[in-house]
Amino acid sequence: MNTDTYKEKLLTEKVKLEEELADIGQKNPNNPNDWEATPVADMDNADPDKNIRADAIEEYANRIGVSAPLEARLTEVNAALLRIEEGTYGVCEISGEKIEEDRLEANPAARTCKAHMND
Ligand SMILES: [Zn+2]
Repeated sequence: MNTDTYKEKLLTEKVKLEEELADIGQKNPNNPNDWEATPVADMDNADPDKNIRADAIEEYANRIGVSAPLEARLTEVNAALLRIEEGTYGVCEISGEKIEEDRLEANPAARTCKAHMND
């Protein structure tokens, strides 16, 4: 299988995901594969007359909610890129069959063939 097109797609997606994550998070200094939502200024603001603190905490919770699926997808994309390097790309993890080209077109990070896509 020629993996060049898929590799290009995956690398493009990786860059995009990392850009989106960089807006709301930062890489864990102890583990570059782990992203953490960036704390929001005013989270510790104790002014009781204003909702600044509540708003900041809500924004932080929102960042966590948004970053989790992006991070999960980035992990999938990185795993797919690793499979390309190792020469195991495009093989179903469950059946060991080749993954259909149109499935890879739709999701270049797919780990399984169509028959096992929900397993
Ligand atoms: Zn399969």
